[in-house]
Amino acid sequence: MPLRALLYRRPSEPSAINIVFDREVYLVRVRRHRQARRYTLRIHSATREVVLTMPPRGSLKEARAFAQKHGAWIAARLDRLPEPAPFLHGIVLPLRGIDHRIVHRRESRGTVWIEDAGDERNLCVAGAAPHLARRIHDFLKREAKRDLEAASRLAAQRLGVSIKRVSIRDQSSRWGSCSTTGVLSYSWRLILAPPFVLDYLAAHEVAHLIEMNHSRRFWRLVARICPHVTRAKTWLDVHGSNLHRYGVPVERR
Ligand SMILES: [Zn+2]
Repeated sequence: MPLRALLYRRPSEPSAINIVFDREVYLVRVRRHRQARRYTLRIHSATREVVLTMPPRGSLKEARAFAQKHGAWIAARLDRLPEPAPFLHGIVLPLRGIDHRIVHRRESRGTVWIEDAGDERNLCVAGAAPHLARRIHDFLKREAKRDLEAASRLAAQRLGVSIKRVSIRDQSSRWGSCSTTGVLSYSWRLILAPPFVLDYLAAHEVAHLIEMNHSRRFWRLVARICPHVTRAKTWLDVHGSNLHRYGVPVERR
């Protein structure tokens, strides 16, 4: 049996299909999987992506019919996810755990800055409207890098290790990672969380420079430099997925 030929998507095959349910169009990503025995649907809550997995010999026609049949399920599951909060004028986002309202100041000079407005804090953005989302995104990434670099250096100093580099990514699957070469990677979204959560993540990744596992010894190291491990882990369990709704483009719904 020409198995290899079956493992891959046919060149002419689209990687996604559209289905319609209740007058809404839903994009469904399609992937063939060698071990798949039947058609299955999954929703990635972080990215709001709908993924249909099909057997190597399955047909796109059957895949479409399957997705269509489960249109109500797809709609209900996406509906239950937190409302996306794209970077637009008027949207409130948490910066270091504190609510900030995005205010577009078209006429002002500069890029992004914070203003106290009585009880509220504004995240002001200058320039033309089409650049607003990117400017906010760049600003948050810069702030994330600064805080995570400082927290990682402090954690490294306390554990007597050295770090090579801190990189900020847009990964949706994990909050942080650590390579054997000493490069620490973090999700920029940690800047949205309260500082004790960001500090915990830094302590966690830096501790991996000594223990590349999640053993008891590892957790003892983390606890030695971070006094609020349980509190931070609980916070991430409860609120972590909510951080993924910020900046998600509206079209991807
Ligand atoms: Zn870990």
